[in-house]
Amino acid sequence: SVLLELKNVSKQYGKDTKALSDVNFSVKEGEFVSIIGPSGAGKSTLLRCINRMIDASSGEIMFDGENVCTLGNRDLRKLRTKIGMIFQHYNLVKRLSAIENVLHGRLGYKSTFAGVFGIYNQQEKEKALDLLEGLGLGEQIYKRADQLSGGQKQRVGIARALIQGPKMLLCDEPIASLDPNSSKIIMDHLKNISSSIGITCLVNLHQVDVALRYSDRIIGVNKGSVIFDGSPEELTDET
Ligand code: ADP
Ligand code: ADP
Repeated sequence: SVLLELKNVSKQYGKDTKALSDVNFSVKEGEFVSIIGPSGAGKSTLLRCINRMIDASSGEIMFDGENVCTLGNRDLRKLRTKIGMIFQHYNLVKRLSAIENVLHGRLGYKSTFAGVFGIYNQQEKEKALDLLEGLGLGEQIYKRADQLSGGQKQRVGIARALIQGPKMLLCDEPIASLDPNSSKIIMDHLKNISSSIGITCLVNLHQVDVALRYSDRIIGVNKGSVIFDGSPEELTDET
């Protein structure tokens, strides 16, 4: 079934930057979709509209049966627990340990009394430990984020996104700052998360070869418009 559907989504920044023009596509539950395109194509804008970090200028974004564009604050919070974000620069809190970053990432948690003081219940702590171990970070659990390698930081980012139990991960250039070896580890984890847990992945990439290797489907974006939408095989045939 369809999890995400974009209908005529456009985004304009200020007066003259049209970052997205009439974008239409839908993503099925469990699909692994890569969005490829050159720098400035609108990939990051697209992801940020989907989880409402920014507002689309027009169009409709349906996620899990709801129009994302019209949600109020309380429903927005709920939406963001269903959509995990992964960033190019990880967005970890440097002075906190790996596990604190995972627990700290829980939306809404920081606003509670316990959260402010970094007190977590045992069940949450165990879930965080399981996630970190599953991502191969068993030795890094109590290391500070700023002492981890890039690939390790990104795995903490993945654990932080997963602890909320999301239906979908939005990954904005998750491997753009990593060497080939770490990139492979991250992509393998994302692929595994989608194929074995069934979490839908929407991944911005600028490396076509990586998109071809990992995706069920590839969406090509240029100058704010979708210029390709098909399987890796279809993309190879076209080029
Ligand atoms: P990509 O992720 O594919 O590199 P972006 O979505 O970051 O593309 O950018 C698409 C276009 O929108 C670019 O022309 C960029 O300069 C512009 N843009 C992105 N963010 C902003 C912003 N906050 N304000 C104004 N223009 C922006
Ligand atoms: P602090 O408690 O130190 O002020 P912040 O809330 O400023 O921490 O978070 C630091 C960084 O981590 C920011 O870049 C923020 O965007 C990012 N961050 C915090 N929580 C999340 C989350 N749930 N998902 C993604 N990034 C997050």
